[in-house]
Amino acid sequence: MSEIALQLENVTRHFKQAGETLEVLRGANLTLKRGEVVALVGPSGSGKTTLLQITGLLDKPTSGQVVLAGKPVDSGSDKLRTARRLQDLGFVYQFHHLLPEFSAVENVILPQMIKGVTKQAAHGKAEELLTALGLGHRLTHRPSQLSGGEQQRVAIARALANDPAVVLADEPTGNLDPHKADEVFDLFLRIAKERNVAALIATHNMELAGRMDRIVRMQDGILA
Ligand code: ADP
Ligand code: MG
Repeated sequence: MSEIALQLENVTRHFKQAGETLEVLRGANLTLKRGEVVALVGPSGSGKTTLLQITGLLDKPTSGQVVLAGKPVDSGSDKLRTARRLQDLGFVYQFHHLLPEFSAVENVILPQMIKGVTKQAAHGKAEELLTALGLGHRLTHRPSQLSGGEQQRVAIARALANDPAVVLADEPTGNLDPHKADEVFDLFLRIAKERNVAALIATHNMELAGRMDRIVRMQDGILA
């Protein structure tokens, strides 16, 4: 197993807008070891979401390369990219995007079944993760029957369900009150360390950023 979870190599992203080229990323480089939790900070509009979209294989760089778990990601085939997304990545969104018709445990089972895990194995893993996140007594609740913090914990369990190398989060605690945000983040930090999962977390919360292993700053299209 590669000890390096993620490498971004000279990643650029240019947008063509009304005849002009906007150079949002100008050669971003980053290496995340397994188990390393890193804060991505920078002013609004500096390119944090763009960087996360490229790292998450939801967008392609103009040039440069994404390497996940030691293996470069093909920038051509969408099928291969989707497979790599399922294999190597987990996502935590600010508005958790849980499926409202499904219970907590089903929301964590689904990404595993999409990957091809049997329902029984997926159920076991989902229960284990939700229990580790303090939701053992909420397995069959639907998202609307859970508090904001509980919903975010289900989203974390879902992100970890396929044992990704890297979890990505874009302002994940933005819609929680600060106390809840701290609590959810502490849980995430502990579980990421236990499971040797790297994380790149965009945040404006400097107190939260300060508790991560390292802070990288988006500045003029590169990471400093
Ligand atoms: P942040 O997440 O740090 O606030 P973003 O990555 O969302 O920054 O945006 C960085 C810059 O890239 C902004 O100026 C934004 O308008 C521009 N941008 C992002 N996506 C696109 C797009 N699809 N087309 C054109 N410009 C974009
Ligand atoms: Mg953003």
